[in-house]
Formats: sequence, C-alpha cells, structure tokens
Amino acid sequence: MPDAGKGSNDRQDAVLGLDTSSADRIARTTCYMCACRCGIKVHLKDGRIRYIEGNRDHPVNKGVLCAKGSAGIMTHYSPARLRKPLRRVGPRGSGEYQEIEWDEAMAIATDWLGAIRHSDPRKLAFFTGRDQSQALTGWWASQFGTPNHAAHGGFCSVNMAAAGLYTIGGSFWEFGEPDWEHTRYFLMFGVAEDHDSNPIKIGLGKLKSRGGAKFVSVNPVRTGYSAIADEWIGIRPGTDGLFVLALIQELLRAGKIDEEYLCRYTNAPWLVIQDEGAADHGLFARDAAGQPLVFDSVTQVVTGAHQVDARPQLAGKVSLADGRWAVPAFHLVARRCLEPQYSADAVAAETGIDADVIRRIAAELAHAAFEQTVVIDQPWTDWAGRRHDRMIGRPVAMHAMRGISAHTNGFHTCRAIHVLQMLLGAVDSPGSFRYKPPFPRPTPPAIKPTGSAAQVQAGKPMPGPPLGFPTSPQDLLVEADGTPRRLDKAYSWEAPLASHGLMHQVIRNAWAGDPHKIDTLFLFMANMSWNSSMNTTGTIEMLTDKDPATGDYRIPHIIYSDAYASEMVAYADLVLPDTTYLERWDCISLLDRPICDADGVADSIRQPVVAPDRDVRPFQEVLIDLGTRLGLPGLVKEDGSPRYPGGFPDYLVHHERKPGVGMLAGWRGAAGDRQGVGAVNEGQLDAYVANGCFWRHEIPAEARYFKHVNRAYLDWSVGMGLIDKAEPIALQLYSEVLQKFRLAAEGHGEVQPPEQHRERVRTYFDPLPLWYMPFEEAAIARDAFPLHAITQRPMAMYHSWGSQNAWLRQIHGENRLHIHRATAARLGIADDDWVAVTSHHGRIKVQAKLMDGVNPNTVWTWNAIGKRSGAWNLEPKAGESQRGFLLNHVISELLPVRGDGYRYGNSDPVTGQAAWYDLRVRVEKIAAGESVSEPQFATLPVPPHLPERPGVLRYGAGFRAAVHGDAEATGETK
Ligand code: SF4
Repeated sequence: MPDAGKGSNDRQDAVLGLDTSSADRIARTTCYMCACRCGIKVHLKDGRIRYIEGNRDHPVNKGVLCAKGSAGIMTHYSPARLRKPLRRVGPRGSGEYQEIEWDEAMAIATDWLGAIRHSDPRKLAFFTGRDQSQALTGWWASQFGTPNHAAHGGFCSVNMAAAGLYTIGGSFWEFGEPDWEHTRYFLMFGVAEDHDSNPIKIGLGKLKSRGGAKFVSVNPVRTGYSAIADEWIGIRPGTDGLFVLALIQELLRAGKIDEEYLCRYTNAPWLVIQDEGAADHGLFARDAAGQPLVFDSVTQVVTGAHQVDARPQLAGKVSLADGRWAVPAFHLVARRCLEPQYSADAVAAETGIDADVIRRIAAELAHAAFEQTVVIDQPWTDWAGRRHDRMIGRPVAMHAMRGISAHTNGFHTCRAIHVLQMLLGAVDSPGSFRYKPPFPRPTPPAIKPTGSAAQVQAGKPMPGPPLGFPTSPQDLLVEADGTPRRLDKAYSWEAPLASHGLMHQVIRNAWAGDPHKIDTLFLFMANMSWNSSMNTTGTIEMLTDKDPATGDYRIPHIIYSDAYASEMVAYADLVLPDTTYLERWDCISLLDRPICDADGVADSIRQPVVAPDRDVRPFQEVLIDLGTRLGLPGLVKEDGSPRYPGGFPDYLVHHERKPGVGMLAGWRGAAGDRQGVGAVNEGQLDAYVANGCFWRHEIPAEARYFKHVNRAYLDWSVGMGLIDKAEPIALQLYSEVLQKFRLAAEGHGEVQPPEQHRERVRTYFDPLPLWYMPFEEAAIARDAFPLHAITQRPMAMYHSWGSQNAWLRQIHGENRLHIHRATAARLGIADDDWVAVTSHHGRIKVQAKLMDGVNPNTVWTWNAIGKRSGAWNLEPKAGESQRGFLLNHVISELLPVRGDGYRYGNSDPVTGQAAWYDLRVRVEKIAAGESVSEPQFATLPVPPHLPERPGVLRYGAGFRAAVHGDAEATGETK
C-alpha cells in the first residue's frame, strides 16, 4: 500500500499502469545521504527496503536521484550501525565498551550535565557536525545556558555565509541560486561536486539544454561541474580574490558598471566621513534621524539616502555641514579596486591566469550584463512606491562555495565576488543570482550572539541564541580584559564575526583549557578524531591526554552520538546510538536551513519509514528527553512535567519560537489553512506526510525579483514571518560594520582589542574589498613547500558517510594524491608511485595519480575516503585504511608561531572559518616497496554486538529468491 496521499506523478503512474508490485508500501520522505534534502520514495516489501527512487513532485530534486541517494539502502543497512548505548570500560581510544540500557545512559548524561549546569554552564561544550537540526540544538544550548555551541558551518563555508549576509543580506547555496532560466553567463567559484548536488546538476542541465549561455568554472581542479564547464579556469588556490578584483578593475576601466542599480539599491552613493584619526572616520555621514546622506548631483545639496528623487553622485569630495569632507562609498571602492596590484597584468603570475584571459572574461561579463539584458514583462513596485512596468535584469549569475571559503582570506574574497555582482547590477535581477527565502534579510540579520558574563548564569537559560551577527565591538563575547569567553574563541578579537563558531578549535582549546576549562564535550555526528579535525594525530593525543597531577583526562567527559561506528566512537566515554535517517522524524526548518527556491518558500520533514531493529534512539528524541530530565525551562511545565511528552514529533508541532512561528511553516492554524505564521495545528505532521513530507508556497509573480527592494516581496516576507519589518535592504558595497572594528583597533570606543590583536584587527577589518596572501603561505618558506594541497568531495560520497557504503565504496574505495603530469615529471613521479607529502606541520605517505586537469602548482585528493583500520566495521585491511589517507594529518589547527610566540588558530581573521585549503606541501618520491599509506594507527576493535562484516556484502538476494525461487542469499546484509 502506498502511503497516505499521492503526488501528481504517483497518480500518473497509476493511470499508466506502471508496475509497483515489487513493493507493498511506498513511503515518501527526505534523503539524507547529503545535505541537499531531495524528496525520495522508499519502496518497502515485507518491512525491508526494496529500493529508493526520487520523488518527482518534490521541489528540490523533481525526481532526480544521485548515486548517493539510491545507495542510501546500504547506509541504512550498514554493518557499522551501532546497536545499543555504550559505556567505556577500557582506556579512552581502546574501543573497549560495555553495552548498557538507555536508562543508565541517560542517568549518566543527566548526572554529568546537571552538575555543571548548576555550577558553570559554560563547562558544557555542545557541538554538532553535519546535522540539520540546529534550530533545535541551538535552542537547547540556550536553554541549558551554555554559549559553547556551534555546528559544522565554521568548518565549511562561514566565510561565504558571513560575507554574503553582511554584504547582500543573503548568500549562495541555501540562501540563493542562479537564475537558471534566464542567465547568459554563469561564473562558478570553488564548488565541490557534491554541494547542492542535484539542484546544481538540474540547473546546469537547463542551462546547457537551452543553449546560448556560457558556464565558466574557476577551480584548481577540473572534476565534477568543472569537467562540463564551457571554460575551466584552473586558478592557483587562495588567489580567487585577486582574479575577482582584476575583473572589477577591467569593468571599472571600461565603464561597464550599472550606476543606476548602484544608486538605487546599494550604499554606493552614501557619504563616508573622511577625517583621519577621528572616532567616526570611515563611518557614514548621517542626519539627526540616523539616515545616511548622499550628495544630489542635480540640486547640489547633501540629502538623505532615502530621498527617492535624488540623483546621487558616486564620486568626488563633498563638504559636510560640520565642515568636514566625505566621499561616496563607491569612490573609495573604485579607488581600491583600481590600485595597480589588482590590474590583470599584476595578478596574472599569482593567479596563474593569463592577463588576456582575465580581460576577455571581464569583457564577456560586461557583454552578457549590458548587451544581453533580460526583460520579464512583469510590473512591480519598489520599496519607495515607484512602479516599474517590467523587470529588467543583468543575466550574469555567480555561485561560490568552500573552495573560496576555506582560506584565511576567504571572507574578503567572498565579499569581492558580491561587490562584482553589485557593480554589474546582478543581485536578484532577472538572469542573475536570486535570493531564496527567508533571504534577503537585513545586512546582517538582527540577531546578536549571547554569552556575555551577565547572560550566562548557573541553572538558568541564556536570554538568546549562542550564534548571531555582531555589528560592533560591543557585541563581542569577551571578558573585560578582551580575552575570549567562548571555548572556540568565536566572537572574540581573534574571530569577531564568527557567525557559525569555530568547531575546528574546540578539542584543542578544551585540552589546553584555553580560554577556559570544560567538564563535558558533547558531540553529535562529528567525526572529530578523524576526518573532521585538522592535525588528526595531535587531536587523538589530546582526546586521550591526562593531567599528570590528577591522572584524569584533560577533557573529563566526552559524550558522543552517532548512528555508526565512526572513528570518534572510540574516544567517547558514553555513546548514545542514533538511528538512520529512514528511522526517525527530522525537520528541515525555516528556522535553520530550509529547502526554499527563488520562487517559493518551503520546508520539509523526514518521517520514520522503517522501525529500528536495534536499541537506538533518534538524537533529537534523546535531546528532548535529556533536556526534560535536566529540567530545562523550555522543556518542562511549571509543575516539572514534560512539556513535550510525545518527544520530538510533539516538539515539532507544538513548539513556538514566537507566537505563531514554529519549526514548520506549512499547514499552520487550528484548521491547517495558514502558511508561515499561525496557531498550532494538531494535524500538521499528517499534512506533511500526505504531501510527500514537504510544504511549498509560491511567491507572488510581482515579488520574485529585486526582493531586497520589492514592496510586494517585503510585505509578503513579513506576512510569512520571515523578516520583522518591510524595510528595504540596502546592499553593502562598503562595510561600515568592518570599519567600526577597525576604529576600535585604532583606539576608539569603549571596547578595544588587547594590544596583541590590534594590528591584526586593523589590517583585516577593511571596509573595502581586499586580497592578501593566505596566512600559512605567508608564514612558511614558499620554496620549501612549493605546492598547494587541497581536497575535493566526490559526487558519490558525502564526508565520511559514503566510504562505509558497500555500493559507493565500489566507486571510491581508496584515494590517491593527484598531481599534474608536468609537475610529476619534474619530480620523477609516475602513476601509483608512493610519495611523501610534507607540510610545516607533518608528513604522510600516499600513492600518486597523474592527471592533466589540475593547476600545476596544486596537488589534491578526495576528502574523507581514508579510514582508520577497524573503524566503520570495515575489515582491517580494507583499501580505505591501507591505501586511503587523509590530508588532515599535515594540516595544523594552529598557524605557525609568530614573532611574539603567539599562535592564532588556522582560521580566517574575520570569521574564524577553518582554512583547510591554505595547506602548502612538498612532494617527494619514496623508494619502491611501500605498500601502506601512513600514518597508520592501531586497529580499532568493533563495538559490541555489531555483525561480522562479510567479505562481500550483498543486498537483495532474498528478493530475487522470492521472485525467481533462487535460494541463494549468501552474505546479505541484515
Ligand atoms: S543530492 Fe543528496 S539529498 Fe539528493 S538524492 Fe543525492 S544524496 Fe540524496
């Protein structure tokens, strides 16, 4: 029996008489083999999963299913699934565990956490990996009272997210998408092929099949999306900012910028005070009401930026009423971008891109933007009430991801890309980058991080979320002496705009007690003793290190929740086994990372389609239960009874973040007839299930472009509860927020950086676009480590989840170090030779593979294929552990030591983003005879009662037997 409710394609299948007899139930839910959140239909027979197909009614994938998605069956039935809570009985790292009952496990966790909540809640560090429940986990941390919470974002792409949110009120991936239907020129920077996987593949398919559009991929490695690009720019890692600034310079020199767009929708004309040494130097000149000022070129007077009739001037000195000078923001931006070091000729050597190529691409961008204008016959009204007959757009779309982000100069590179977009008038105009709701939001969103001394109190919740968006030094979470308050040093002078936290610093800082000691490290789905940590070998030592004075572990308690026997399990004192994604309720919420598209607002759920056959519980259920046992105010009633006795599904339906706004936006209101905002609907989950586990609501046609200034969109967005006020969102060509931090570093204001951080803050909090050499490259001898080393994520794998999957392992069962053929020839290296890869931090032994499609100064490998022997219940001599490897061993979590002896984290100085891709190495051939990658570690024992993994894993032999009378079912995974 198919599940309740059918999509239109299900009905079509029935009309066509397509055979669905292979299943006795088809359940629709949401894939979680990567973070794209495609809709899937799970075919079930006799309670077992028969196969998985894409849901053609689903807005994300429209039926498309990738290799990972269809192989979800083997992840679900993986022999690596944990079976029961575990308590460590041997030394940490030994993998010696005893199975315990859930009551005992929850009592241990409640005991540890209850004690610290009533003494110092900061002693809980609660960090989660690639999960999608931050709307719950962040709220839970606030309820507990600890600011020490974050998730995967600081690892991955916070530079991109923060640069976007502080600049255009949105960003790439979940926050925006190319206008696939109309763009004529698509420029993609540093996007791994598993990112936004099915949506990008579908989009590229549209772009290529309609013809007439050019796709240019800027990436040191030509795999995945780059392999099908019309032009591949094999840039040198960490120099994308130079390339973008050179493009901007070419456009400025040619006068190919959209002045009207800049004047109407950005802060380009806002006057910036020029009074070197004054406390307001570099801030916007404002009137008494706080409104920024512009100079009207017609009336020749200074007037408010919101005067719709003004024709603001974009350059030149202006005298202010107080006698001081100011210039428009554009004047400063243009002056910076026209500096000689950003000319095409000057950047060619550093980027590895010919100056002529840079000039040609700039000309192509200009041609697409200004000669191939897209016009949509749709009237619209802007924020000021001006009626526009049509929507006119610049069909140049851009997209960027982790290849740009994961550098110490990534924030400014991302900002430079947004500046380029603005100069072309290519933000949310037809044919360009388009916001997905709930974006755009104010620049930045009006949420401040919580965790000051006054906000953290024993036994009490914090008054706000741990993560937010500082707009001035007053918003930082620092002690009176300027030292960090958070364990990961987010929102300190070392990483002031750390919107996603710094997970890569957590274990090191907890071990060092820097800036403070903790009691319990609580991790969910984060493989921190392996592929999710820099300096993996050192991290393992930190996790097992004891204080010689007490004999106790330096990190006293570690609680870990995971569905699988990952490398991290061996280092936990208490293991709380999670379910697979097909066994639980989940929520992809507008409060977190929704599944919207540029034409509609949407969210989704997962429903349990099979019952667990092990004694495991969904992590979200465990969190609700744990919070209830701890008596967290949001989870218990006045009388102490559970507020959500039905667990996570109960919370999904009944929890309200503010009146009428809950975890799910669809089918709200008592009758289920409200969208976005509305009372609790008891039948809400049923409505989602009946609709294929998603909800989507179309944006009105007149509201679909220019969302940041579109009256209809802003009103609609307020009505849906997405933003608080229907006010225009001015795009920030010039960043006054950054200038406020710089002024503090120059000695202004009450909150100033300690002396040791002043120069760093002054340098990198530049309100203008900027490029500087990545920190590791600048600190080491470049000749000693002449190559860049980076990772790519393959299409068929997602972090470490994929390489335990029997089907996906057949695609990537081990990894090699890919080297450009010419570079390899120079080094005397041939295919499959063993080589040593040495950085300033360490050395690994790996096998080489030669190729042409890579920047000659760059080596690379697939991410997270390498496994530790014995982990994930793979056989100890599996290719993943014997020939697979991680680059993580040679990446340091700290930058090389400075002159004063201090070591900053290996992070962007603005956001704290982990700088995975700054790695520099040398590669040398090793004598023949090597056959195992290094380093190797002791084989991890398999946790109790996991099944013995057969040499060959088969699935479905039983189905064949049922159909064909074939009795063979050997090795079938159970
Ligand atoms: S792209 Fe990701 S979410 Fe979509 S089917 Fe593939 S693995 Fe699943």
